[in-house]
Amino acid sequence: MTRQRQVILEELRKVDCHPTADELYLMVRSRLPRVSLGTVYRNLDVLFRNGEIQKLDAGGQHRFDGDVRNHYHVRCQGCGRIDDVFGEALEALAMPRSSAHDYEITGYRLEFDGLCPACVPQAEGGE
Ligand SMILES: [Zn+2]
Ligand SMILES: [Zn+2]
Repeated sequence: MTRQRQVILEELRKVDCHPTADELYLMVRSRLPRVSLGTVYRNLDVLFRNGEIQKLDAGGQHRFDGDVRNHYHVRCQGCGRIDDVFGEALEALAMPRSSAHDYEITGYRLEFDGLCPACVPQAEGGE
């Protein structure tokens, strides 16, 4: 692993805010002053393909997660922020063994909708 890739992975694992590639670029620049946005994108792609990070589809823009354990997310409908959610019931979802179309099912995604603390007052005041 290159040093750049290592730093990108370390910075991503430090936070739980599921940053976009652009946000991560700003985060790693203090340690990698010469890094380019393209390099960050490329390294995120490699890390994802290696199974070292998760890529979340956030309405057009991808967000990245350094935590690859099985966990779930809530997405703010106001600003698009994504946070982790926890709960015992969430671990009980059984994997189907097969589908009607002979898929080999390898996993699933579960995402909750909500409003983050920053967006709740706006939703109450507006409309
Ligand atoms: Zn929000
Ligand atoms: Zn997460």
